[in-house]
Amino acid sequence: MPGFLKRAWNTGRLGVWARREGAIAYWDRQELARVQDRRVRALVAHAWRETAYYREWLKAAGAEPGDIRGAADLARLPVIDKIVLTRRPERFEAESLKGTDGITLHSSGTSGYRRHLRHDARAVLQALAAGRRQRLALAEYVGRESGYREAIFNRDGSVGGQLRAFIETRTWVPKAVELRRRLFSPVLPFAELTAGVDAFQPEVIRGYGSHLGAFYQWLAESGRQFHKPRAIVYGADAMPPAQRRLIEQELGIPVLSTYQAVEALRIGFECSQRKGFHISVDQVVVRVRDKGPGERGEMVLTNLWNYATPVINYQLGDLVTLSDGLCPCGRTLPLLTSIDGRADDLVARPDGTRVHALAVLAPLQKAPGVMQVQVEQRAFDDFLLRVIWRQGEPRDEDELKRRFRQVLGAGAAVHVEEVHAIATTSAGKVKSLISRLEQR
Ligand SMILES: [Zn+2]
Repeated sequence: MPGFLKRAWNTGRLGVWARREGAIAYWDRQELARVQDRRVRALVAHAWRETAYYREWLKAAGAEPGDIRGAADLARLPVIDKIVLTRRPERFEAESLKGTDGITLHSSGTSGYRRHLRHDARAVLQALAAGRRQRLALAEYVGRESGYREAIFNRDGSVGGQLRAFIETRTWVPKAVELRRRLFSPVLPFAELTAGVDAFQPEVIRGYGSHLGAFYQWLAESGRQFHKPRAIVYGADAMPPAQRRLIEQELGIPVLSTYQAVEALRIGFECSQRKGFHISVDQVVVRVRDKGPGERGEMVLTNLWNYATPVINYQLGDLVTLSDGLCPCGRTLPLLTSIDGRADDLVARPDGTRVHALAVLAPLQKAPGVMQVQVEQRAFDDFLLRVIWRQGEPRDEDELKRRFRQVLGAGAAVHVEEVHAIATTSAGKVKSLISRLEQR
């Protein structure tokens, strides 16, 4: 646990960074490019010094750190596959930062397996400061930047929760910039969620896109009166466009989205004009593989801030479209006009309400012996779990069933099947939740 002085130092630099946040999104584009290129050079030099993996990677491409002068040169280097980093993240960790202050974030991906990635304390504080960039866009709807009530529909142990716990022990966040947050489990039946929200009266509701979409569709169809927040913010997975239209146009609640990953804590955020995601190019490099502006392709990511585990030229698995135009909001940060690949499924309940995939998957992925798991819903109360077990580790099917029923109730029939591979979709993605029910 860091001492008093370290905590004071963290709080101080957080304040300095946060003050700059009001302006960065409006910087001159050339200035942004200069900052980005400088950080690319520094990061590549660091990765070369600190990790055998990146030294080999650069040598194999016939390059040295001095050859990489900026973001554009990254396109000449090989892309790092998601599986490589997911399976052995320790190979990417910087030698001299091992054992220094930082946090290993655990993310229960809907790709079916957990990811672990270590971030240094400076990168986490920087990401916290950059949160102000998103909050300023949100403030245009909420009317103020802090002090409001925010309901979060997320499970215990989410990446956001892990980060908050880390920051709370390392800084003193001034009361003046705090929010009043309340966590609501995404496993709660929609009627209970509604009652909780009505009692709390939040100005902002934050959660998974698919879950919030299903929740508001259910609310609209139920015909009941309910508390409306000033804005809804979702991250992680996509909200179906029809549900977004329903929330924005019929219910009159603006919807904003954010874009982040366990490999890069701030990639982009939607501004008040909602024309796309502004990419935080001072923090990340986002490139579309072999494609120009306006063309959809595979996203390649570099995180410029995290030195504990350098992430360079990394294929995140999303399909995106970059724009070279300017946003009417006046922010100069470039725009991502579409992100695909974030579509998750929901588990349906007999009463018509839904549970987000991660609420079901996260406890299963943490079960002993599990390497990867896929859930197939065959009926409201009938599920098949396909499991890839870890070699040489004890496996416990009953424990899996127990964890599953803890989330979805004792009535569900659960079958466990051992598999050696989990099929990918035609888009090459692993779907860890498959629903055989008629989808609305
Ligand atoms: Zn904008």
